[in-house]
Amino acid sequence: MANTTLQDAPVAASLFDRERRDIVDARKGLLIRITPDGELLLTSDERLLGHEEPFPEWSIVLGRWQGMPIAVVEAPCDDVSTARRAHKVTDCLPMLSDDERCLVATALEVLHWRRDHRFCGRCGSPMVMDAFEYAMHCKACGHICYPRLSPCIITLVTYGDDMLLARSPHFPAGRFSTLAGFIEPGENAEQAVKREIREEVGVDVHGVVFQRSQSWPFPHSFMLGFTAQTSTKDITIDGVEIEAADWFSIDELPALPPVGAISRWLIDQHVKQVKAKRHA
Ligand SMILES: [Zn+2]
Repeated sequence: MANTTLQDAPVAASLFDRERRDIVDARKGLLIRITPDGELLLTSDERLLGHEEPFPEWSIVLGRWQGMPIAVVEAPCDDVSTARRAHKVTDCLPMLSDDERCLVATALEVLHWRRDHRFCGRCGSPMVMDAFEYAMHCKACGHICYPRLSPCIITLVTYGDDMLLARSPHFPAGRFSTLAGFIEPGENAEQAVKREIREEVGVDVHGVVFQRSQSWPFPHSFMLGFTAQTSTKDITIDGVEIEAADWFSIDELPALPPVGAISRWLIDQHVKQVKAKRHA
């Protein structure tokens, strides 16, 4: 890996304070509601957070938002009493601030983790959630489970000013994005970048540089964003994870991922750099 560049990386969320040891017993504050399908329940005027309210049983305190205790709770999508409506999280990303995206990612991942770790994976006994930290304990055998994060690499590959973008079969029609894949056990991130790109589009890359990272709660990915270059435009798609790939100039872009996704940020940064170069 070449120089690690952290300029432009998001600073720690300033509105969201994760410290919660002194408020684990808070009974009221701000509440994020998430449906069993993982959709966000927004207020009638499409805001993430409403007014202060009592915390229901089974809510999980996440910390403070602008000084006020904040918790997440799983709520039915047909709960008309709150006048909230369900929205897909990815549809909400463009209208959320960076701090709100951190908050939503935390809420989704913690809820998902608690739901999937109700029983010990080692002995099968019921697990109990720790009061002070994100940890599920098995009293029977002592096993502890922390929230699972699955590290992934996501990489914008360029050849000169052109970008290599691809689409997987589950993308919305017409959308292309940067290449991504899970890091395998025993592998480092730079090796994963080279392997995934070679597997998915048959291209060898060099100049792999880390740019920024993002928690991606679908359901628990942790995206490490890179840029890399290649010295050939020949591509061979794998036909499984990738159904199409092509080179794009900044003047003829396809439909892109939503603002708020790290893939979009990597693309937007490149577009800015090429435009700045043209006007230099
Ligand atoms: Zn156990």
